[in-house]
Amino acid sequence: MEGVRRIAIFGATGSIGASALDVIARHPEKYRATVLAAGHRVDALIDLCRVHRPDHAVIADEAAFAALRDGLRDAGLSTQAHAGLAAMDALAASDACDTVIAAIVGATGLSSTLAAARAGKRLLLANKESLVLAGELLMAEVAAAGGTLVPIDSEHNAIFQCLPPGRPDGIARIILTASGGPFRGRSRAELADVTPAQAIAHPKWSMGPKISVDSATLMNKGLEVIEAHHLFGMPGERIEVLVHPQSLVHSFVEFVDGSTLAQLGLPDMRTTLAVGLAWPRRVASGVAGLDLIGQGGRLDFEPPDLDAFPSLRLAYEALHAGGTAPAMLNALNEEAVSAFLQGRIAFLDIPALVEDGLAALPPTRAESLEVLHAADQAARRHGQAAISRLT
Ligand code: NAD
Ligand code: MG
Repeated sequence: MEGVRRIAIFGATGSIGASALDVIARHPEKYRATVLAAGHRVDALIDLCRVHRPDHAVIADEAAFAALRDGLRDAGLSTQAHAGLAAMDALAASDACDTVIAAIVGATGLSSTLAAARAGKRLLLANKESLVLAGELLMAEVAAAGGTLVPIDSEHNAIFQCLPPGRPDGIARIILTASGGPFRGRSRAELADVTPAQAIAHPKWSMGPKISVDSATLMNKGLEVIEAHHLFGMPGERIEVLVHPQSLVHSFVEFVDGSTLAQLGLPDMRTTLAVGLAWPRRVASGVAGLDLIGQGGRLDFEPPDLDAFPSLRLAYEALHAGGTAPAMLNALNEEAVSAFLQGRIAFLDIPALVEDGLAALPPTRAESLEVLHAADQAARRHGQAAISRLT
C-alpha cells in the first residue's frame, strides 16, 4: 500500500492553491499538504497553515520573514517559516514533498518548477508561463529525471486524459477549446474602453486576475498553444483553437484514423487537480458530474476573432519564430497586463505593446536558461519603457 503522499503547493494562496487544498483535504488518508508557499500575503498564508498544518511555510517576500515566523508561533503551530525564492527551490527538491503543485503566477514560477522537475517529483504544472518561457529545457529536465508531469490547465489536462501513456503516435491535430472570455462577440472598437473590473469578470471560470485578463485578450489561449506544443510535441500548425462558450468540452484530440476524443466536465479546476493527484487512478474532487440537459442541452463552437483579439495571432507567430520569441511574448504580456490592472494603459494597448515589442526585439536561439532570462529581462525593460511613454 502507498503511504500518504506529501504535497508542496507553490502559490497556495491563489485560486489554483485553494482548489488544490480543497481536494487534498477531502482525502486525509491519501494526501497531506506539507509545504505551502505564497508571494506576499503573509496573513493569508498563516490562515492556510492554521487549517492545513504543513511542515513548512514559505513567503517569497524576504522582508516578510519575521511576520511569518512570529505569526506561525503566535498561532501555536510547529510549521517552520522560510522566505525567498531560493528557499522554495530547496524545498521543491527536498524530502519534504514527493509531489509539487506549481501554481505561482508568471515567469517567477520557473525556478521552483525546474527544481521540482530536476528532483523527479510528480509535477502538477499550472504555471503555464514557465512552459512558455523555457518549455524545451523544462521538458528535458522532466524526461531526464523521470518524474511524471500532469498539466493543470483544463485544456491540456483534457488532452492528457485522452492520450494513451508514453509517447503516443497517430495524433493528427489538437483542438484547444476557449470560452471566448467576457468580451466574446465584441468588435475591436467595442473593446477600447473596457475596464479591469470588466476584464476579470470571467463568464465561466473563477481565476486569479492575471489569467483572467489573459482570457479576455485571448492571450491565455495563445500561451496555451505554446504550452500544448511543448507538452505534446505538436507543431503550431497542428494546434487549433475553437471558441466554445459553454466551457464544458475542455479540448479535443483528433487521430489519423478519423477518431476524435474529448474530455468533458463542469468548469472547475478541482477535477483537473484530482486527476493530477491520483493519476492513473481517480479520486473524488467535490465536483458534480455533467448534466448536459441541465446545462442547456447544447454545445456550440465558433472560430476565434483574430481581428478583435490579436494576442492569439501574436502567440502563434512567436511560436513559429521560435528561439527567445515566446519568452519575450510572455514577458511583454506580463508587463502590459500588470499596467492594465493598475489602470495605467487601455485594454487594446496590451496586444499593441506585445506586437511592438516583438517587432523591435529580434529573437535569438534559446540554448540556455541564461539566454532565456536575458531575453525575458530585455523584453520587460522594453515593455516598461513603452508603457511609460503611454502614461
Ligand atoms: P492567483 O493570482 O490566484 O494566485 C497566484 C499565486 O502565486 C498566489 O498564491 C501568489 O501568492 C503566488 N505568487 C505571486 N507572485 C509570487 C512570487 N513572486 N513568488 C512566489 N509566489 C508568488 O493565480 P491563479 O489563477 O491561481 O493562477 C496560478 C497559475 O495557474 C497561473 O500561471 C495561471 O496561468 C495558471 N492557471 C490557473 C487556472 C485557474 O483556474 N485559476 C487555470 C489554468 C492555469
Ligand atoms: Mg486553460
